[in-house]
Formats: sequence, structure tokens, C-alpha cells
Amino acid sequence: MAIIIKTPEEIKIIREGGKRLATVLNKVKEMVAPGISTKDLDDYARKLISEMGDYPSFLNYSPDGASKPYPAALCVSVNDEVVHGIPNKDRILQEGDIVSIDLGLKHKNLFTDMAMTVSVGEISSSSKKLLETTERALYVGINAVRAGNRIGDIGHAIESFVRPHRYGIVEVLAGHGVGKAVHEDPYITNFGKKGMGEKLVPGMVIAIEPMINNGTKNVTLDKDGYTFRTADGKKSAHFEHTILVTEGEPEILTRI
Ligand code: MG
Repeated sequence: MAIIIKTPEEIKIIREGGKRLATVLNKVKEMVAPGISTKDLDDYARKLISEMGDYPSFLNYSPDGASKPYPAALCVSVNDEVVHGIPNKDRILQEGDIVSIDLGLKHKNLFTDMAMTVSVGEISSSSKKLLETTERALYVGINAVRAGNRIGDIGHAIESFVRPHRYGIVEVLAGHGVGKAVHEDPYITNFGKKGMGEKLVPGMVIAIEPMINNGTKNVTLDKDGYTFRTADGKKSAHFEHTILVTEGEPEILTRI
């Protein structure tokens, strides 16, 4: 599959969709608290998206190799869960947890993608550092987005920033092109070599999403076919924005 360059008209729609997605995800973030179930967060996200007249793009999405479509709007991944946790009314958030919320939105048939990891009440200093470092890694990756640079420059920047912290960078999951579909080419790993991979061209829309573990980089997949978790049970964080490649500074589209 070739990389799709978006037209100015498409970019306008994606920009509006990104703003709506950021609005929803930030409201869901405000709901995170001890005693709230992961299903409560999903219900709220669905309600907000439906009120806007848009669609949650992960709901019923079938990724490659999945045996059944994804059953919710929001991915909610708690503590050692890395990504794609399925909301559950019996999964109650506790003080000290960290929870990753990941949401895709379809606005006028075009797609945006965003994630963040949020603290539940007071969290440990090591969890705080994990969240701060992962969020900063996202912005380091975004900063490497310049027309003429290559995909490998993004992964290289993220990897160089994260390595000294001795965290595990998840390698089996990655960022991706987005816009006409939930996932498009190119595949954007959170590690890489400078100057390698496809060239960044204005009009490309990409989701950058470092997934960083407070231990091993290795992950396992639960029997539900979706939930990835760290192999050593240590916590994991995830931050994601949808980005437009321009002639100059990268534009963060998933922003209010
Ligand atoms: Mg994504």
C-alpha cells in the first residue's frame, strides 16, 4: 500500500476531526478517578462522539489477524497493560493506577487517532517519571517530523531520548499513517536509524505513538486477542498524536 498524501480539503476535515477527538479524550481524562470502571470511560467517550455526530473508529474495527472485531470505542489499558485493553464494567480504577486511553474518531469519513496515559489519584514517583518521559518522547518524535526527513529519523529520535532512562521501548507495535483509514502506511517504529525508510512529504498525516515500559520491552497478548501487556508485569505508558507533515513545523492535529 502506498502512502496517501491528503488534499487541502481532506486536511481541513482531518483538522476538525482532530480537534473534536482531542476535546473528547480530554473530557474522558477528566472522568478518570478511583472507583470509575473502564467501561464508564468507554460509555462516556461514545456519548460525546455521538453528540458531535461523529463515529468512534475503533468500534467494530478488525485489525489484521484479529479473530473478532474490537468491541468498544475506547482502548483502556491499566498499569501493565500496554495497549488495546477492552473496557469492562468490573475493572474498577484504583488510587495509584496509571491508565492509558486511546481513541480513534471518524469525522466526515476521515480518521484521527490519539492516546494519553493518565494517573488515577496519587501515583508513585516512578510512575510519574514513566508518564513524563513517554509524553516527552512523543514530542521528541514529533520534532523529527520535517519534510525531507525520513520515517527512521522519528524512531531514531524517540529511541535516543528514551534509551538513557533504561526503559523498554515496545518494538512489536508502532505508529502509522492515518486519515483515509484507521491504519495506513507508513509503519512508524519507536526505534530506528537516521535516514532510513520513506521520505516525509507535506500532506502526509501520521500517528506517532511511543509505548514505553518500566522494564522489559517484551509484551504478551492476552487470550481476548487484543490486550497487550508487559511480559514482566511492570507498568507501561502510551502517548499519541495525529500529525500533519508541512513545509515547515509539524502540525499537531489532535489538539483543541
Ligand atoms: Mg494509533
